[in-house]
Amino acid sequence: MSELRFNELRGEQVVYAIHRQDRTFLPDREHCPLDPTEPGGPETEIPFPSFEIAVFDNRFPAFQAPGGAAEVVVYTDQHDGSFGALSPQRAEDLMWVWRNRYAELGARDDVDYVMIFENRGVEVGVTLHHPHGQIYGYPFLPPVPTLELAADERLGGCAPCELLRRELADGARVLLAGDDVVAYVPHAARWAFEVHVAMRAHRPSLLECEPHELRALAETLQSLARGYDALFERPFPYVMVVHQAPTAGDAGAAPPGAAERSGHLHVEFYPPLRTAEKLKFLAGSEQGAGTFISDTLPEETAVALRDAIARGS
Ligand SMILES: [Zn+2]
Ligand SMILES: [Zn+2]
Ligand SMILES: [Zn+2]
Repeated sequence: MSELRFNELRGEQVVYAIHRQDRTFLPDREHCPLDPTEPGGPETEIPFPSFEIAVFDNRFPAFQAPGGAAEVVVYTDQHDGSFGALSPQRAEDLMWVWRNRYAELGARDDVDYVMIFENRGVEVGVTLHHPHGQIYGYPFLPPVPTLELAADERLGGCAPCELLRRELADGARVLLAGDDVVAYVPHAARWAFEVHVAMRAHRPSLLECEPHELRALAETLQSLARGYDALFERPFPYVMVVHQAPTAGDAGAAPPGAAERSGHLHVEFYPPLRTAEKLKFLAGSEQGAGTFISDTLPEETAVALRDAIARGS
C-alpha cells in the first residue's frame, strides 16, 4: 500500500509508492507488457490474442482501493503508434471508455477526484512506449483542481467558461474553433507549447456530453496531437491531463444558488520542449517560488502551432 503524508509547508499530500521502484522500465520490443498475448506465447498484462481498448488496474499503483485507484488504459493492440495516429473511430471510442471510467471510479467513496492522463515520451518519464494512458482516482482533492475551483470563486462563475469567452474574443491564441470544442494556447501559459482544449458548452464532465461532443473532442485532441508531431517533425513529448468536476461526496454538485455543477471538462497539454531539442527544466524560480519564467510569448507559439496543425492534418 502507498503511504500518504501531509506536507505542511506546501499544504499538500505527498504519496509514497515505494513498490513502484521495481516497475517495468522500457522493456525491449519483444517483452512489451501491453501487447496482446500471442497464442502459446508468454502472457502479457492482457490475456487476449487481440483487443481494441483495454483497461486494467495498474500493477504498480500509486493508489489502491480502499485508498483510491490507479488504472492503465491501452489505446490499441498495435505496439507502434500514438494517440494521434489512432483511427478516428478508435479515438472516439476512447472518449466513451474515459467516460465510463469517470462514472465508475467517481461513484466510489474512496475516490474524490478522477484524473485521466497520458505521459508521452521519455522526456516526461515514460517507461513503456506502447500507446496508453492512465487514470488515477485520488482519495483527496489534489492542489490543481482545488486551485481551479478557487478560480471559479475569483471570477464569480465557471472559470473555464469565462477564460474560453476571453480567448474567443481575443482570437490571437486560438488554434481550433469548432462548434463544440475549442483549442487554444492560454493567455498565461506556463509551458511554451501549452494548449488547453475546452468544451464550448458548460459540461462539468464527460458524463454531461452529447455523443457529437465526444466525437468533436476526440477529433480536436487528435488534430492537436498530430500538429504537435508536425511542429518539429519528431514525436512530440507531452503530458496530457483531463480535468473534470471532482467526485467527492457532493463536491461536484452545484454550490448553493448556482445553476451548474462546478468543474468544466477541459484537457490540458504540458509539453516540456521549448525548441526542437531544448527542454524546459523546472528550476530555481519554478521550484522555489512557483513562478514560471518563459522565453516565448503564447501569441508566438500559437502562430507556430496553427501552422503545424495545418501541416499535420
Ligand atoms: Zn506493445
Ligand atoms: Zn463552464
Ligand atoms: Zn485545468
